[in-house]
Amino acid sequence: MKKLVLLGGGYGNMRVLRELLPNHLPNDVTITLIDRVPYHSLKTEYYALAAGTISDQEVRVAFPEHPNLNILYGEVININLEQKEIILSNSEPVPFDELIIGLGCEDKFHNIPGADTFTYSIQTIGKARDTYQKLNNLPANSFVSIVGGGLSGIELASELRESRPDLIIKLFDRGKTILSSFPERISRYVQNWFNMNGVDVVNEANITRVEDQLLFNNDEPISTDVIVWTAGIQPNKLVRELNVEKDKHGRVILTKYHNIPNHENIYVVGDCASLPYAPSAQLAEGQAEQIVTILTKRWEGKELPEEMPTIKLKGVLGSLGKKQGFGLMADRAITGRIARILKSGVLWMYKFHKG
Ligand SMILES: Cc1cc2nc3c(=O)[nH]c(=O)nc-3n(C[C@H](O)[C@H](O)[C@H](O)COP(=O)(O)OP(=O)(O)OC[C@H]3O[C@@H](n4cnc5c(N)ncnc54)[C@H](O)[C@@H]3O)c2cc1C
Repeated sequence: MKKLVLLGGGYGNMRVLRELLPNHLPNDVTITLIDRVPYHSLKTEYYALAAGTISDQEVRVAFPEHPNLNILYGEVININLEQKEIILSNSEPVPFDELIIGLGCEDKFHNIPGADTFTYSIQTIGKARDTYQKLNNLPANSFVSIVGGGLSGIELASELRESRPDLIIKLFDRGKTILSSFPERISRYVQNWFNMNGVDVVNEANITRVEDQLLFNNDEPISTDVIVWTAGIQPNKLVRELNVEKDKHGRVILTKYHNIPNHENIYVVGDCASLPYAPSAQLAEGQAEQIVTILTKRWEGKELPEEMPTIKLKGVLGSLGKKQGFGLMADRAITGRIARILKSGVLWMYKFHKG
């Protein structure tokens, strides 16, 4: 039997399973999925988990079951490309013939002293739970600082506003305006929502140091009760440590068939892969579909396509609490209730396998 090992049961590898298991898995291939968490976690919803507006159960999706799928729960501590084995903290090494690395990303702290020690995170389900505990146990009128005005910072700030109207919330953003890379209409809409709902957006912020309950913005100290970090991501540490070529973000440079050069049987999917778009769940899924095409062709000994098609992305959708949202679909700006309904629809379709 050939051994295909999937590292991480996130959006990328979950799509691999959803494509392979019902249709394309030859009888002589077994899959081993390894994840530290015993279910697929909906990372795109961690902001709501942390804000306390959805339950933990709502961000879990069961892994599929199949006679040729074996699931191992544990912490991967090393990927040995040469020996073709995976080292786990709690069990024997796992050998592979083919590997898909989909371990996602982590916070990036840009070497800002204290940022990794004194801030909360929403990058893993465990960290999002810790952040939930901290935020939701705060007494009235506590001051929460959210560093990073990208999609996840905006979603967290607005969701927390609706969850805890008593808190003082400041969102520190580097740009001159919030979402400065989006069309002005979206930026204005989001800023207006924050104005109306009492979230203070601090533009042109430059966090230079973090201490316990203390944030330095442009070297100016600001006392705060909790700091949540949403100001940057980087690939999983295990991937950053791989001795292969990476781009300036630390993502693995791949061939057009999504495998590591000189390692035809080792693919990288999702946030760890160097692709010509910003990392996202939909990108991970689109890439995963292409990996399945390549894998099946290689298994069947068929010729690979000369060129791979462009991965089609549908756009970006962000929420502002449970009723409002914003987004860019086919380069068209959308704002308000319709954007929020679309976002909920996308999540629903994903959860119930309609997407
Ligand atoms: C708050 C927030 C909102 C977002 N909103 C959107 C959105 O609206 N749309 C969108 O497209 N994208 C969104 N994203 C980005 C999206 O979540 C990621 O791009 C996507 O999850 C990447 O998928 P992946 O398969 O690479 O990894 P992930 O989905 O992150 O999965 C990685 C898996 O690896 C496991 N793992 C990691 N390290 C180890 C280890 N050492 N041992 C064992 N297991 C391990 C993890 O448990 C996890 O299951 C959002 C992200 C955040 C944080």
